[in-house]
Amino acid sequence: MSVRYPACVSTTRIAQCIDGRALAAEVKALLAVRVAELAALGRFVRLDVLLSGGNEAGGVYAKNQASMCAELGIEYRMHAVQADASESQVLQRIYELNADDAVTAIMVHLPLPSGVSTQRVQACISVEKDVEGVNPANIGGVIYGRRTLVPCTALATMRMIESTGVELRGADVVCVGASTIVGRPVAVLLMEAQATVLSTNVHTRDLAGRTRMADVVITAAGVPDLLTGDMIKPGAVVVDVGINRIIDPETGSKKTVGDVHVDSVLPVAGYLSPVPGGVGPMTVAMLLRNTVAAAD
Ligand code: NAD
Repeated sequence: MSVRYPACVSTTRIAQCIDGRALAAEVKALLAVRVAELAALGRFVRLDVLLSGGNEAGGVYAKNQASMCAELGIEYRMHAVQADASESQVLQRIYELNADDAVTAIMVHLPLPSGVSTQRVQACISVEKDVEGVNPANIGGVIYGRRTLVPCTALATMRMIESTGVELRGADVVCVGASTIVGRPVAVLLMEAQATVLSTNVHTRDLAGRTRMADVVITAAGVPDLLTGDMIKPGAVVVDVGINRIIDPETGSKKTVGDVHVDSVLPVAGYLSPVPGGVGPMTVAMLLRNTVAAAD
């Protein structure tokens, strides 16, 4: 699905918008049908999340999750973790959820209380219930081309690229950023699609020279205005994963931007995903997709 950006630059060419909200709505409509079908068979979808005390951003996200799950007919349960909880207390909670057959999906909001290892906690989530795809077994599955429980943002990014209809087989793709949760799994999924993939990071030399050669550029660096129009091949697909809070120089108030310098990239790229309204809503849709898949 793609819609046109508003004609905010004076040029004959403006990139098509990869509309994450519209794509997410399509995914959610299909999921609601599947949840109802499962319920008719006596199989219920339930997402249990752990949220540590003092995590305000996580609290807002959890509230949104709860209402989206309600829309889809998914049962949602939130488990509060004390801000000073020990690692063994957190792990105990995970083991209880793993053992409970009524719980079909588990997610842990970050950050965890100080002193609690995120990696150790994620590794203890049951592989079948790990809907964020953060257990090493699920991350390993990505290497083998399994898309069952893949990290949500990586899956969202792939779905957004695929929605443009671009031929990935043989395409030159540059991933800007190589984190374990976004850049690396996306690179592996693109390899699986037979693209020629270049993974870059903060130490990469001549980033612009490399992105200019790419048919598809994914940026997940967390650096506002990192990717400018002179770094983009005309007609390329650009997916902006970055979420950065900045002060708007014009209004003085806070706003959310991605890694792309929109005004200069819009006249050059063929497709561009906006921030907000791009990868963000699709990531949530992919969490719900994984939640239903875990119960299916
Ligand atoms: P991270 O900090 O773990 O990794 C950043 C990566 O970018 C590193 O590999 C680093 O080397 C690279 N990088 C930094 N500056 C660079 C530069 N100038 N040139 C090339 N590479 C550079 O970050 P992360 O957790 O992967 O998140 C990245 C961004 O994506 C953040 O803005 C984050 O908020 C956003 N994010 C969005 C979603 C979503 O749902 N839309 C999900 C996760 C992360």
